[in-house]
Amino acid sequence: MVVVREVGPRDGLQAEEPVSVEDRVRLIERLVDAGVRCIEAVSFVSPKAVPSMAGAGEVMAALSRRAGVEYLALVPNLRGAELAMEAGVDGLTVTVSASAVYNEKNVRMTIDESVEAVRSICAAVGSLPVDTVVSCAFGSPYEGDIMPSTVGALALRLADAGATSLTYADTTGMATPRRVRELLDVVGVDVGLHLHETRGTALVNAFAALEAGVTRFDTSVGGLGGSPFAAGAAGNLATEDLVHLLDDLGVPTGIDLEALLAVSEWVAALVGHAVPSRVAAAGPRSRLAG
Ligand code: ZN
Repeated sequence: MVVVREVGPRDGLQAEEPVSVEDRVRLIERLVDAGVRCIEAVSFVSPKAVPSMAGAGEVMAALSRRAGVEYLALVPNLRGAELAMEAGVDGLTVTVSASAVYNEKNVRMTIDESVEAVRSICAAVGSLPVDTVVSCAFGSPYEGDIMPSTVGALALRLADAGATSLTYADTTGMATPRRVRELLDVVGVDVGLHLHETRGTALVNAFAALEAGVTRFDTSVGGLGGSPFAAGAAGNLATEDLVHLLDDLGVPTGIDLEALLAVSEWVAALVGHAVPSRVAAAGPRSRLAG
């Protein structure tokens, strides 16, 4: 079983022109209808910094929640964590970058300050799970390569600060299968991976990680996404592209591919352009092979 954490409503939509709260709610509910059981639904960030994520509390309040589904929020700081708790989320994601320059641009903090922010968030939220995402874990657009040992050292500090789990993000598409294996050798395979298609390597990286034993992946419906703070960032690994691969490998995800493709088609209309997913464009091979 692979756990797919769907990040389309957050990482996907944050890179687009703002859409209505009603449509964001609809997107989340449709993804859950397709079988998604873990979803980054909102982020409690400054609406000035990321206008398309404004109204996170309204989105959470308007959702009809389904039992067994985890509705998560990305938060940049303690204030965001408090708002997310008030909104009744099931867990938080907090990002700390392995790249000092990227961290400064993304959250206006040094890495040390971010580690302390994770500590204060974890202390404040009690038993609520806090997944900490180490961004630029495979390299930085500003600093180039970042050694797996450097990433591993940061991971230890984040675990010490109270992070419940860790996810490694290839924020700007610098990972390759070789580099994925090198990082996993240091940090182990009980981790999540958050992969981007900037250089067309997200799916091969996911496959390399899967073969190494990783079972948690972040994906975005349609492959939407990209950081507003990273030059040249492109979409996330598309949920349908990963599910298509996993279906063929016989690895269950709980997600119905055809239902997901219908959501992908709907979201393309919502954002007003075709989505980058290859499977969305070509259709799944199962349609031809029966
Ligand atoms: Zn991302």
